[in-house]
Parts: sequence; structure tokens; C-alpha cells
Amino acid sequence: MQTIFAQRAHLPLGWAENLRLTVSDGRITSLEANTQPQAGDARADVLLPSLGNLHSHSFQRAMAGMTEYRAAGRDSFWTWRELMYRFMDRITPEQYEAIAALVFVEMLEAGYASVGEFHYVHHQPGGVHFASVTELSERVFAAAGRTGIGLTHLPVLYTYGGAGKQALDGGQQRFGNSVAEFSQLVARARDIAARDLPSDARVGIAPHSLRATCPGDLAEVLQIQNGLPVHIHIAEQPKEVADISGWLGARPVEWLLENAPVDSKWCLIHATHMTSAETSRMARSGAVAGLCPITEANLGDGPFNGVEYLAHGGAFGVGSDSNVRISLPEELRTLEYSQRLRDLARNVLVPREGSVGETLYLGAAKGGAQALGRDAGRIEEGALADLVAIDSSQPALCALKPEQLLDGLCFAAGDDTVTDVWSAGRHVVQQGRHIARDSVVAAYRTAIKELLNSL
Ligand code: ZN
Repeated sequence: MQTIFAQRAHLPLGWAENLRLTVSDGRITSLEANTQPQAGDARADVLLPSLGNLHSHSFQRAMAGMTEYRAAGRDSFWTWRELMYRFMDRITPEQYEAIAALVFVEMLEAGYASVGEFHYVHHQPGGVHFASVTELSERVFAAAGRTGIGLTHLPVLYTYGGAGKQALDGGQQRFGNSVAEFSQLVARARDIAARDLPSDARVGIAPHSLRATCPGDLAEVLQIQNGLPVHIHIAEQPKEVADISGWLGARPVEWLLENAPVDSKWCLIHATHMTSAETSRMARSGAVAGLCPITEANLGDGPFNGVEYLAHGGAFGVGSDSNVRISLPEELRTLEYSQRLRDLARNVLVPREGSVGETLYLGAAKGGAQALGRDAGRIEEGALADLVAIDSSQPALCALKPEQLLDGLCFAAGDDTVTDVWSAGRHVVQQGRHIARDSVVAAYRTAIKELLNSL
């Protein structure tokens, strides 16, 4: 059993002071406000529910900063993807694990307790299978085990190279599986996760996108959902919308809502290009909108239709996706700023009135937990102890009233306010640093050097 004492904490009914909580088996077992600290308590200044990072491709962190050079002609998402494919063609399982471990350390230090790893690299370059079909999933598990992050692993079904059942091209060979092969992979990954990872880990499924699957396969793969999360990339780019409309006769979100049993277990990643009708219908479906504002800005995807979506009560969470930069406050602020820049307005993502920071932070805490199948996103008895402590004595926060703290965190603070993070009770960030940071960073440096030498 562990005990934590916080000067202030955000509970479902609002702010509490002098809160002492106990944690056992990864869950919050008691909460007492207006009390005194006791010997042996871990101490926190401001305690918040920690967020789930609902969408990540960890290995892409290794190419951060390498694709910001303008070559002749016009760069686009699709030229970025070309480089990503070439880069990925060289990564070994050992390097994959080292990169994932670094990314998970960075996420934990940023204040995320868990991650949805949207995992689509399964095979060797050229598509030859590893001796174990779950070789690379096991590398992700090892990185999660080493860093203590709460993992929702999302193996990706990627069967076709483009809308209309096109064949996989060279760089996509490493992703390819039929539904039958994929089902075996998922079953095996679930067995290994149950054996090797803590009980809060989950293995859901992720049909990559409508362009990488087909209607029959999508229906078939849902047979192995088992009540676990289903994630899908949906309408990131106008070209994708045009391709799917041309093939299936409906826009991606429109088609999915019409033809798949989309509900609260689903997370639609990058539902960027939606009509008003799609937006209200998706909000009512109960699915989570998986928003990745930093990556969507970096790739030039466009702004999400957030105002209408929140007005219809839609659930949302955030993900660091390409991991070009891992910063929780920046993710939330970029989401709000994308809407302000488009609408020439301030304080946009609040349906009626209230604090933008609270709406964004608490909304993403709830939606992130839902999308990852974690009983978390709130500080409450019985919930997982996914917690983050921040230091409100920082200059950017010290003048703020409690009800302004989340606005300060989202809009004014730097990335150095996090002092501690617990993931299902695992106290892995202490004094602002992950407890295995040094060894994880050293292994990353070795891996990335090898990888660059092989390019
Ligand atoms: Zn993605």
C-alpha cells in the first residue's frame, strides 16, 4: 500500500485541500480531505488525474527534426510518409525497443500515465515474418514494462496499400497481414501481455484506416474485439476523403458511422475533415475523437471541427502521434489555438462558459481513459491511480487561484511543472525525472547512432 498527501487535488466535484489518499494494487482505495500528512506519505503540491496519451507511433520519435527541411517543390504529408517508410525499413527490433522506451519516459515525464500504441510495424523489411509474429509487439511490451507506462497496445490490421484494395507497396510490406494472420497475432499478443505486463495493460485492435482495409475485412476483424478498444485513422487528409468517397461512395466518417457498430469503445483518430452532419453524428455515437494537435499542425492536416463537436457533447482525447514533440500542455494549447486562428475568436473550446484549461484537461483525461479502456481519468475511490503532481510555486502558476490553475498549466506554463507521475500506482516520475531516465537515454543514443549509420 502507498500513501500520497497533496496540498490540493482536483476531484470529480472540484478542488479539495490537504488530501490524503491510499493506493493498493494500482487503485485508489481511500481519499480523505482536510487532513494532515503522515510519516511515509509521498508529498504532492497539486495532484491531478493523469492523462492517457491515446495515439502514438513510438518509432517515429527517432525521425523528429529530420523532416523540417524544404526541398524543391511542395512538401506534403505524403512526402513525409515516404521518408518515414525509408527510415523504418532499417529499424531492428532492438532499436525499436530502445526508441519506444525513450518515448515512454518522455511521455511519463510530460504527465501522461498511459499510452495507446498504434502499432503497425509487424514484420522484417520486405515483409518477411519474424520467427515470432509478435516480435515487435513484444519489444513494445518490454519498453512498457521497463518504464512502467500503462500500455494499451493496438496492433494494426494493414492489408492494402490504398483505397480500393490496392497492393502494398515496398515500404508497406512490413505492416501487411490478412485478417487471419492478424487474429493470430492479436491472440498471441494478448497471451503475452497477460503473462508479462501488469493487469492494467490492454490489447485492443486497430484497423489502420478505411484505405488499408476493406468493408468485408473490417466486419470480420471486429469479431476479435472482445469488448476492448478499437482505434482507426479516419479522415486525416483531403486526399483520403476523396479516395474513400470515390471508392465507397461516402466520406470516411459518414461511411464508418453508417456501416460499422461505432460506440464508446471506438476511437476515431484524426477525424479532421468532417461535414457538420458527420460531426454531430460522430459526437452522438459515443466514440472518442482522437486528436493529435501538434502532429496535425506539423503535417499540415488542418483544424478539427471542435466547436460543433463539443456543442454536441462529443468525447475527445489527445495523442502525441508522430511524437515530433511530447508536451501535454502544448498538445492542449495547440488544439485550442487551432480553433482560435480559424475562427478569429478567443476561448473557443468551451460549450457554454467556463475555464478553457479545465474543459480541455479534464475532457482529455476522461476521453483518453475511455479510449484506452482504462478505469482512470479521475481521482476517485476505485479508479486506477493514474496521477500527476505539478508544482504550483512555479512563476507561471504562483499567482493563480485554484480555479485558474489548469488554465495556467495549459496556456502559460513551460514543460517543467510535473514533479511526480504514478501509473496505476507505479511511482515512476519523481522530482521531475523518470527513475530509469539515464539508462534509457544511454540505450537510445546507442540505438539511434546504429540506425543512422545503417541508412
Ligand atoms: Zn497515427
